Amino acid sequence: MAFSKHLAQTSPYPMGIEVERAEGCYIWDKNGKKYLDLISGIAVSNIGHRHPHVINAIIEQLDKYLHVIPFGEFSQDPQNQLADKLASLLPESLNCSYFVNSGTEAVEASLKLAKRLTGRHEVVAMNKSYHGATHGSLSVTGNEVKKQQFRPFVPGTTFIDFNDTSQLERITEAHAAVILEPIQGDAGVRIPDKAYIQALRKRCTAVGAQLIFDEIQTGMGRTGTLFAFEQFDVVPDILCTAKAFGGGMPIGAFISSQENMELLTHDPVLGHITTFGGHPVCCVAALASLEVMTNENWIEKVKHKSQLFNELISHKSIVELRSIGFMFAVALASEEKVNEVINALLDRGIIGFYFLSCRDAFRLAPPLCITEDEIKWACDQINEVLEGFL
Ligand code: PMP
Repeated sequence: MAFSKHLAQTSPYPMGIEVERAEGCYIWDKNGKKYLDLISGIAVSNIGHRHPHVINAIIEQLDKYLHVIPFGEFSQDPQNQLADKLASLLPESLNCSYFVNSGTEAVEASLKLAKRLTGRHEVVAMNKSYHGATHGSLSVTGNEVKKQQFRPFVPGTTFIDFNDTSQLERITEAHAAVILEPIQGDAGVRIPDKAYIQALRKRCTAVGAQLIFDEIQTGMGRTGTLFAFEQFDVVPDILCTAKAFGGGMPIGAFISSQENMELLTHDPVLGHITTFGGHPVCCVAALASLEVMTNENWIEKVKHKSQLFNELISHKSIVELRSIGFMFAVALASEEKVNEVINALLDRGIIGFYFLSCRDAFRLAPPLCITEDEIKWACDQINEVLEGFL
């Protein structure tokens, strides 16, 4: 495989596609083979690869300036406009954004903000969660396999079971925050009851713990609304986004109220700081991506297209098909079957993928711009592949 031996590789079984270019829902390899990207670079290319509006915004910004100074010193239009756009799309209590470089950094910073806000240090997190690969995020990640070689972690984290209302009483006045993915992604698309999320919101308010929603995977239209929290009729105290937020560029954000965020300006000053957070090129890409999302009505169409997938992926070997919007977990009899299916799909020019903490299911997270014809073709291919492995 064409990997440099000087390139650190943490995947022992890489797919190895030698990428030549990508456009819309497709990736081409160096031999000209075309792949339908049904995972969107793992929930990143929600508006497709290289959307022209994003590319134009990037080109325009390249002609003005790149990095000028770490965040917060100079006034930069790309940052201001992106923050305004987010505030226009989110509830009043989420009217202030801090831009970071990645999902895990958004999580780290959200935990710091919760500590600063409450003066407490203990955190409640969910079993089977995934929040990122740096130490703070791993501390609140409920995946033992990913953690075991890297102890010790940040002390004071209690894990409870996702979607189990009886365990909510373990959240107390000792806790700075409860952090969760409103739909667990890497656990294999686990969708909680609305009543559970509402009870969780109530409990956090009652004990004064900050409710942090990690919407790094569920955000940007992936579940059929801009953010998943909208479907539960609750508002988190702190919202984390990344992945699809940048329209293909690396940017994340943690978002809360202006009042809350102001705490990070004193005791200590620069309570969170990052050299590249809010990079102007990433900000214009994120703004352009949000404009595409809101102007082109793709989010509204996700529900119907999701139903189409659900109706068309149909084979007796499927143990369970879990889905919300464009997050799908297709559970099969075993991990071996999942591997066989992913490889066979790749041969047919379809990219599916694994889950970190759910090895008996394969993942589909298509770009929102996929057409009905492409969905029909993809589902036919998936069914044929499943038939071949009966
Ligand atoms: N939280 C969730 C829910 C995620 O899915 C991910 C990435 N898979 C992260 C955090 C970490 O994001 P990043 O890889 O950008 O650090």
